[in-house]
Amino acid sequence: MSRPGEAPSAAIVTVGTELTTGLRLDTNTAAVAAALTGHGLRVAETASLPDDRASLARSLGRLTRECDVVVVTGGLGPTHDDVTREAASEALALPLDRDADLAEGLASVARRHHDPEAAAHVFRQADVLGGADVLPATTGTAPGQIVPTPGGGSLILLPGPPSEMLPMLEVALGRLPGTDRAATRVLASVGLPESDVQVKVERVLARSGWGEGIGFTVLARPAEVHAVLTDEGAGAETLDAASRAVCVALGDACFSSDGSTLAETVLELARERGETLSTAESCTGGMVAAALTEPAGASDVFLGSVVSYSNEVKVVVLGVGDSLLAQHGAVSEAVVRAMAEGTRRATGSSLSVAVTGIAGPGGAVPGKPVGTVWFGVADGSGTVAVTRRLMGDRAGIRTRATITALDLLRRRLAGLPVG
Ligand code: ATP
Ligand code: MG
Repeated sequence: MSRPGEAPSAAIVTVGTELTTGLRLDTNTAAVAAALTGHGLRVAETASLPDDRASLARSLGRLTRECDVVVVTGGLGPTHDDVTREAASEALALPLDRDADLAEGLASVARRHHDPEAAAHVFRQADVLGGADVLPATTGTAPGQIVPTPGGGSLILLPGPPSEMLPMLEVALGRLPGTDRAATRVLASVGLPESDVQVKVERVLARSGWGEGIGFTVLARPAEVHAVLTDEGAGAETLDAASRAVCVALGDACFSSDGSTLAETVLELARERGETLSTAESCTGGMVAAALTEPAGASDVFLGSVVSYSNEVKVVVLGVGDSLLAQHGAVSEAVVRAMAEGTRRATGSSLSVAVTGIAGPGGAVPGKPVGTVWFGVADGSGTVAVTRRLMGDRAGIRTRATITALDLLRRRLAGLPVG
């Protein structure tokens, strides 16, 4: 349990033998951790456990004594291996009683089963722990529960499927007292090495005397670096001021301070400026287009993409000259320029980006090692081309090329120098 003045402590338990045997990737821990941190809780422990009632009960017993909030995902379904309710009942010595209203709501689900035994199992999802607050199922059938713990904390039981779990978690957090403090700010940057970001942020925090009340960590992803500031007593206003100062220190490398992704930033800038976008992609195989279409509602600014993996498609669809390819090769300034202009013409977009490079492991030629990537940005005022030598294995190079292409669009849209 946390001491007065400290952020409330939390533990996350993801349940499922499919997680502990590696059959499914546990994405819930990260998603729940981000949500809890965003609500001002300090995650002290995370664990994945198999569908085993006794071991789950032991862990829940200990964690509910040690932490203010314990979030469990998975094991709330109707099948025999869904044991979270029973384990929680054992851990907290609380009765498990069937709720008549919930059971009535599940009757139509039960009727869909042919086997009467399977139909009977469905009603296990109506079993509620003594004193629990029920979180209605929205997308699935299993309701969640907020169970008060003897020490005054909460045990939150949520279903396993991420699409059911996440909306329910937000509802649950909204019902907990004193967890409405948005305790972190993420300053996302692209193009700066990790240690440069580290040093710049440290200087800002030291110069302003914010170091004491604000925690700081750097998260490096391929081609992006996120500086995460955490409120450790400074208060929301100071955290905001520090976040603004860090953004200034990171300069035009900083693309977001509100959690927006790079693709979302690009789409928003294009929207504000009334521009439309297209891509021509060789070594990224459509990854830039995939990133731009990940946010819902991108269709107002993103028009389309040509995945021109072969020279023939570069020639026939994008109008890249045969002679350019023969003279300079597919990975060249001349070809990337022609690709950017070709996709702009083909799609009718106002702005385009093109990528062609050597992602490896094979394909290197003298003067063009693996990781050599050319980028082209074309708009009504002309075309700019830049080259980068990107590091990593094939997947790393493709990811870095995707981020670089998005960043070039961002820079062009924001009126920053490209290249
Ligand atoms: P259901 O009613 O669907 O059975 P449940 O609460 O019993 O819900 P589980 O049976 O534990 O949930 O999990 C159902 C599916 O949800 C899993 O097969 C998996 O695809 C997904 N899932 C469960 N836990 C996680 C997790 N930690 N991370 C990502 N996906 C998960
Ligand atoms: Mg299940």
